[in-house]
Amino acid sequence: MESLTKERSDARVDEDGVSLSGVAFEALVAEMIRRLGDDPGREGMAKTPERVRRSMEFLTQGYHQTAADVVGDALFEERHHNMVLVKDIELYSLCEHHLLPFFGKAHVAYIPNGRIMGLSKAARIVEMYSRRFQVQERLTEQVAQAVWDTLQPQGVAVVVEAYHLCMMMRGVQKQNSKTITSAMRGAFLEDQRTRDEFLRLTTSVHSPL
Ligand SMILES: [Zn+2]
Repeated sequence: MESLTKERSDARVDEDGVSLSGVAFEALVAEMIRRLGDDPGREGMAKTPERVRRSMEFLTQGYHQTAADVVGDALFEERHHNMVLVKDIELYSLCEHHLLPFFGKAHVAYIPNGRIMGLSKAARIVEMYSRRFQVQERLTEQVAQAVWDTLQPQGVAVVVEAYHLCMMMRGVQKQNSKTITSAMRGAFLEDQRTRDEFLRLTTSVHSPL
């Protein structure tokens, strides 16, 4: 692997005098390992920069996808107009503040207005937005908005419950605190009974672990 210093000489330099835009991702990871006190050249870590690059590319591939991509043509005309709920969708994301994982479950419900989507598509939408640097609040809103825009249903409700490693491993070290966020549109906002039905169905006893 070429040294960071050598590659940096080709990089564009910005106002701070520092630009790493021309530096290979692997070199940045190796430099991070070095600065944190280990040797990226030792046997066990020799391939770590490459593994980290592949892993991070996978975990952030949602930047290159849209809801239209993941839903595709899995939309069907259907007169069913009761609540459709996909519960306990596993979720793994990275917090944008620490780049550490948060993980848990999402519950996605909607009330159709002439169209439904394939059952796996709610999970695919959750996955797409999870594979970006996120805050749980925005992730929840983005999933709700994507279902709202895609199906133009009578209502959408999304609840996400997650554990954040940045809280569990560092900082306040609150190992058992779970963060719950929700986002609602249409009938779930306007109709108390609809909202109550959704909350009753999603807050039954279960654990994201
Ligand atoms: Zn964090």
